Amino acid sequence: MNLLEIKNLNLGFNLSDGYKQVINDVNISLKKGDMLAVVGESGCGKTLTAMSILNLLPEKSEIKSGQILFKDEDLLKKTDIQMQKIRGKNIALIPQDPMTALNPLYTIENQLLEVIKLHQPDEKNPKEIAIKALESVKIPNAKDRLKSYPHELSGGMKQRIIIAMALACNADLIIADEPTTALDVTVQEQIMKLLNQIKKERKTSIILITHDLGLVAENADYVAVMYAGNIVEYSSRDSLFKNPLHPYTKALFKSLPDMNSDKLVPINGQPPTINEKIEGCPFHPRCSKAFDKCIKDKPNLKKIEEEFCACWLY
Ligand code: SF4
Repeated sequence: MNLLEIKNLNLGFNLSDGYKQVINDVNISLKKGDMLAVVGESGCGKTLTAMSILNLLPEKSEIKSGQILFKDEDLLKKTDIQMQKIRGKNIALIPQDPMTALNPLYTIENQLLEVIKLHQPDEKNPKEIAIKALESVKIPNAKDRLKSYPHELSGGMKQRIIIAMALACNADLIIADEPTTALDVTVQEQIMKLLNQIKKERKTSIILITHDLGLVAENADYVAVMYAGNIVEYSSRDSLFKNPLHPYTKALFKSLPDMNSDKLVPINGQPPTINEKIEGCPFHPRCSKAFDKCIKDKPNLKKIEEEFCACWLY
């Protein structure tokens, strides 16, 4: 059974000149204990899709249609109060910048205990849980660290505290939104190692939002490649890295730094803005393989052997 299933999600913004669709018929499924990486350039809809799960969407946005089934219940039908209980307890968010998630005015103890008491009101010894959570994310001298304020901790430590909050509440799903972007490479590796350990030991499912294909190659089980609010390729990590199908995915791979070459191969052009309406395949203005049909008709995601790809070449 899938822990999470997003079905035909359509989302947009109500702007002064009308409704602008930005997420188009997105389908995602995630099993218990799996890590799904959602990749693509900035502005392709990765974070909006993930924030829909938590119902933490920006002003003026509106989900037009679709379902977000979590443990078989549609999150889009939940009230704000019901969603408040689900956030943190069942689904936790690890943001890009941990400073935005921690309150600088309160100690780590205050913040951890608040989360534990909110989601586990019957717990007799919340402090013990807080210490254990800090120890499981390898914070040294956990008991003393509870007294620290966020500004006294490094970026990596702050990110560990956020992960500890998710652990303290036994979240079933962690949404990690570019969790290592603000960290240096060695700390990046430690945080990803920690997430992998949690996934393995607790069977926690993880959605990893990233533009870093290196992180995807080392950590993900499945990958959804997004472009202009559409999933254009969906497959297991191994298939995607062995045999990428979509021209956008191939272009992303080509744009990676290569040790044997001093040249980077960028993807020409820019992703479309919210005001640009592109007929046909959304990638056609930038695609070197585009042909007549691509300009007129939009391809749907279809199964090609073990992968799903939205491209008229297949
Ligand atoms: Fe390129 Fe056409 Fe495939 Fe779109 S459908 S990715 S334009 S070849």
